[in-house]
Amino acid sequence: MINIVLFGPPGAGKGTQAEILKEKYSLVHISTGDVFRFNIKNETELGKTAKSYIDKGALVPDEVTINMLSAEVDKHIKTAKGFIFDGFPRTEAQANALKVLLDEKSTQVNAMIALEVDDEVLVKRLLERGKVSGRADDADESVIRNRIKVYYQETAILKEYYKKQDKYFGVDGVGSIEEITQRISRIIDQL
Ligand code: AMP
Repeated sequence: MINIVLFGPPGAGKGTQAEILKEKYSLVHISTGDVFRFNIKNETELGKTAKSYIDKGALVPDEVTINMLSAEVDKHIKTAKGFIFDGFPRTEAQANALKVLLDEKSTQVNAMIALEVDDEVLVKRLLERGKVSGRADDADESVIRNRIKVYYQETAILKEYYKKQDKYFGVDGVGSIEEITQRISRIIDQL
Protein backbone atom coordinates (compact mmCIF):
# COMPACT_ATOMS: atom_id res chain seq x y z
CA MET A 1 0.00 0.00 0.00
CA ILE A 2 0.99 3.59 -0.58
CA ASN A 3 -0.49 6.13 1.80
CA ILE A 4 0.03 9.82 1.19
CA VAL A 5 -0.93 12.71 3.42
CA LEU A 6 -1.54 15.72 1.20
CA PHE A 7 -0.85 18.71 3.37
CA GLY A 8 -0.96 22.47 3.30
CA PRO A 9 -3.05 25.45 4.37
CA PRO A 10 -6.61 25.99 3.14
CA GLY A 11 -6.57 26.97 -0.52
CA ALA A 12 -3.19 25.37 -1.23
CA GLY A 13 -4.74 23.09 -3.85
CA LYS A 14 -4.92 19.80 -1.96
CA GLY A 15 -8.36 18.84 -3.26
CA THR A 16 -7.52 19.66 -6.88
CA GLN A 17 -4.31 17.66 -6.78
CA ALA A 18 -5.87 14.75 -4.88
CA GLU A 19 -8.53 14.38 -7.60
CA ILE A 20 -5.79 14.03 -10.26
CA LEU A 21 -3.44 11.86 -8.20
CA LYS A 22 -6.12 9.37 -7.17
CA GLU A 23 -6.65 8.51 -10.84
CA LYS A 24 -2.98 8.52 -11.72
CA TYR A 25 -1.96 6.19 -8.87
CA SER A 26 -5.26 4.31 -8.31
CA LEU A 27 -5.56 5.49 -4.74
CA VAL A 28 -8.64 6.11 -2.63
CA HIS A 29 -9.06 9.82 -1.89
CA ILE A 30 -10.44 10.69 1.53
CA SER A 31 -11.16 14.36 2.13
CA THR A 32 -12.46 14.92 5.64
CA GLY A 33 -13.84 18.31 4.54
CA ASP A 34 -15.81 16.62 1.72
CA VAL A 35 -17.20 13.99 4.09
CA PHE A 36 -18.28 16.70 6.52
CA ARG A 37 -19.93 18.70 3.70
CA PHE A 38 -21.74 15.57 2.48
CA ASN A 39 -23.11 15.07 6.01
CA ILE A 40 -24.12 18.72 6.31
CA LYS A 41 -26.00 18.49 3.01
CA ASN A 42 -27.79 15.38 4.19
CA GLU A 43 -28.51 16.90 7.58
CA THR A 44 -27.10 13.99 9.57
CA GLU A 45 -26.18 14.30 13.26
CA LEU A 46 -22.51 14.37 12.28
CA GLY A 47 -23.29 17.13 9.79
CA LYS A 48 -25.04 19.22 12.42
CA THR A 49 -22.12 18.91 14.81
CA ALA A 50 -19.55 19.65 12.11
CA LYS A 51 -21.40 22.65 10.71
CA SER A 52 -21.17 24.64 13.93
CA TYR A 53 -17.36 24.46 13.76
CA ILE A 54 -16.88 24.69 10.00
CA ASP A 55 -18.94 27.87 9.70
CA LYS A 56 -16.55 29.60 12.10
CA GLY A 57 -13.45 28.24 10.40
CA ALA A 58 -12.60 26.20 13.51
CA LEU A 59 -11.57 22.55 13.60
CA VAL A 60 -14.17 19.89 14.27
CA PRO A 61 -13.21 18.10 17.55
CA ASP A 62 -10.65 15.33 17.20
CA GLU A 63 -12.87 12.54 18.51
CA VAL A 64 -15.61 13.25 15.97
CA THR A 65 -13.13 13.60 13.11
CA ILE A 66 -11.10 10.53 14.00
CA ASN A 67 -14.18 8.29 14.27
CA MET A 68 -15.38 9.47 10.91
CA LEU A 69 -11.99 8.99 9.26
CA SER A 70 -11.66 5.53 10.74
CA ALA A 71 -15.05 4.53 9.29
CA GLU A 72 -14.03 5.88 5.86
CA VAL A 73 -10.78 3.89 5.89
CA ASP A 74 -12.65 0.73 6.90
CA LYS A 75 -15.01 1.10 3.95
CA HIS A 76 -12.11 0.79 1.50
CA ILE A 77 -9.34 -1.07 3.28
CA LYS A 78 -10.05 -4.47 1.67
CA THR A 79 -9.77 -3.23 -1.89
CA ALA A 80 -7.64 -0.09 -1.77
CA LYS A 81 -4.12 0.05 -3.15
CA GLY A 82 -3.56 2.96 -0.84
CA PHE A 83 -5.01 6.26 0.30
CA ILE A 84 -4.59 9.95 -0.27
CA PHE A 85 -5.56 11.72 2.92
CA ASP A 86 -6.63 15.28 2.14
CA GLY A 87 -7.26 17.57 5.10
CA PHE A 88 -6.38 14.88 7.65
CA PRO A 89 -4.51 14.78 10.00
CA ARG A 90 -4.79 18.38 11.22
CA THR A 91 -3.66 17.86 14.84
CA GLU A 92 -1.08 15.70 16.57
CA ALA A 93 -3.88 13.63 18.16
CA GLN A 94 -5.19 12.91 14.65
CA ALA A 95 -1.72 11.99 13.40
CA ASN A 96 -1.29 9.57 16.31
CA ALA A 97 -4.72 8.08 15.68
CA LEU A 98 -3.88 7.62 12.00
CA LYS A 99 -0.71 5.79 12.94
CA VAL A 100 -2.61 3.41 15.23
CA LEU A 101 -5.29 2.87 12.59
CA LEU A 102 -2.77 2.07 9.86
CA ASP A 103 -0.59 -0.04 12.19
CA GLU A 104 -3.64 -2.23 12.81
CA LYS A 105 -3.88 -2.77 9.07
CA SER A 106 -0.10 -3.45 8.87
CA THR A 107 0.47 -0.34 6.80
CA GLN A 108 1.74 3.21 7.36
CA VAL A 109 1.93 6.77 6.07
CA ASN A 110 4.64 6.76 3.41
CA ALA A 111 4.88 10.49 2.88
CA MET A 112 3.45 13.83 3.83
CA ILE A 113 3.50 16.00 0.73
CA ALA A 114 2.97 19.66 1.61
CA LEU A 115 1.87 22.33 -0.84
CA GLU A 116 3.56 25.60 0.10
CA VAL A 117 1.71 28.80 -0.81
CA ASP A 118 1.93 32.37 0.58
CA ASP A 119 -0.91 33.48 2.85
CA GLU A 120 -2.05 36.40 0.72
CA VAL A 121 -2.23 34.13 -2.34
CA LEU A 122 -4.37 31.75 -0.27
CA VAL A 123 -6.83 34.45 0.74
CA LYS A 124 -7.19 35.57 -2.89
CA ARG A 125 -7.66 32.01 -4.14
CA LEU A 126 -10.26 31.19 -1.48
CA LEU A 127 -12.27 34.35 -2.12
CA GLU A 128 -12.27 33.47 -5.85
CA ARG A 129 -13.29 29.89 -5.06
CA GLY A 130 -16.07 31.21 -2.80
CA LYS A 131 -17.74 32.81 -5.81
CA VAL A 132 -18.35 29.38 -7.35
CA SER A 133 -17.93 26.75 -4.61
CA GLY A 134 -21.02 27.74 -2.66
CA ARG A 135 -19.00 27.10 0.50
CA ALA A 136 -19.95 29.52 3.28
CA ASP A 137 -16.45 29.20 4.76
CA ASP A 138 -14.95 30.45 1.45
CA ALA A 139 -17.26 33.46 1.15
CA ASP A 140 -16.23 35.44 4.22
CA GLU A 141 -12.72 36.89 4.47
CA SER A 142 -12.66 36.80 8.28
CA VAL A 143 -13.57 33.07 8.27
CA ILE A 144 -10.86 32.46 5.65
CA ARG A 145 -8.27 34.29 7.77
CA ASN A 146 -9.37 32.30 10.81
CA ARG A 147 -8.89 29.02 8.93
CA ILE A 148 -5.37 30.09 7.99
CA LYS A 149 -4.67 31.11 11.60
CA VAL A 150 -5.96 27.75 12.87
CA TYR A 151 -3.69 26.05 10.34
CA TYR A 152 -0.61 27.77 11.79
CA GLN A 153 -1.72 27.35 15.41
CA GLU A 154 -2.89 23.77 15.35
CA THR A 155 -1.86 22.03 12.15
CA ALA A 156 1.51 23.35 10.97
CA ILE A 157 3.31 21.46 13.79
CA LEU A 158 2.65 18.25 11.87
CA LYS A 159 5.46 19.27 9.53
CA GLU A 160 7.89 18.52 12.39
CA TYR A 161 5.99 15.35 13.28
CA TYR A 162 6.58 13.83 9.83
CA LYS A 163 10.00 15.47 9.37
CA LYS A 164 11.26 13.54 12.39
CA GLN A 165 10.25 10.36 10.58
CA ASP A 166 11.91 11.54 7.32
CA LYS A 167 8.52 11.55 5.64
CA TYR A 168 8.06 15.24 4.96
CA PHE A 169 8.29 16.58 1.40
CA GLY A 170 7.60 20.24 0.64
CA VAL A 171 6.42 21.25 -2.82
CA ASP A 172 6.04 24.74 -4.29
CA GLY A 173 2.26 25.09 -4.61
CA VAL A 174 2.36 28.04 -7.01
CA GLY A 175 2.23 27.27 -10.74
CA SER A 176 -0.10 25.56 -13.16
CA ILE A 177 -2.10 22.54 -11.98
CA GLU A 178 -0.03 20.31 -14.31
CA GLU A 179 3.28 21.66 -13.01
CA ILE A 180 2.29 21.02 -9.44
CA THR A 181 1.06 17.50 -10.27
CA GLN A 182 4.49 16.85 -11.82
CA ARG A 183 6.29 18.10 -8.71
CA ILE A 184 4.20 15.82 -6.50
CA SER A 185 4.53 12.86 -8.87
CA ARG A 186 8.33 13.07 -8.76
CA ILE A 187 8.09 12.45 -5.02
CA ILE A 188 5.51 9.65 -5.20
CA ASP A 189 7.46 7.89 -7.95
CA GLN A 190 10.46 7.64 -5.66
CA LEU A 191 8.65 6.17 -2.67
P1 AMP B 1 -11.32 21.51 4.05
O1 AMP B 1 -12.32 21.10 3.03
O2 AMP B 1 -10.21 20.53 4.24
O3 AMP B 1 -10.84 22.92 3.85
O4 AMP B 1 -12.09 21.52 5.46
C1 AMP B 1 -13.17 22.39 5.68
C2 AMP B 1 -13.46 22.45 7.18
O5 AMP B 1 -13.83 21.16 7.67
C3 AMP B 1 -12.29 22.88 8.06
O6 AMP B 1 -12.14 24.28 8.14
C4 AMP B 1 -12.67 22.25 9.39
O7 AMP B 1 -13.68 23.02 10.04
C5 AMP B 1 -13.31 20.94 8.97
N1 AMP B 1 -12.28 19.87 8.88
C6 AMP B 1 -11.86 19.21 7.78
N2 AMP B 1 -10.93 18.30 8.07
C7 AMP B 1 -10.75 18.37 9.43
C8 AMP B 1 -9.90 17.71 10.34
N3 AMP B 1 -9.01 16.78 9.94
N4 AMP B 1 -9.99 18.05 11.66
C9 AMP B 1 -10.86 18.97 12.09
N5 AMP B 1 -11.68 19.66 11.27
C10 AMP B 1 -11.63 19.37 9.95
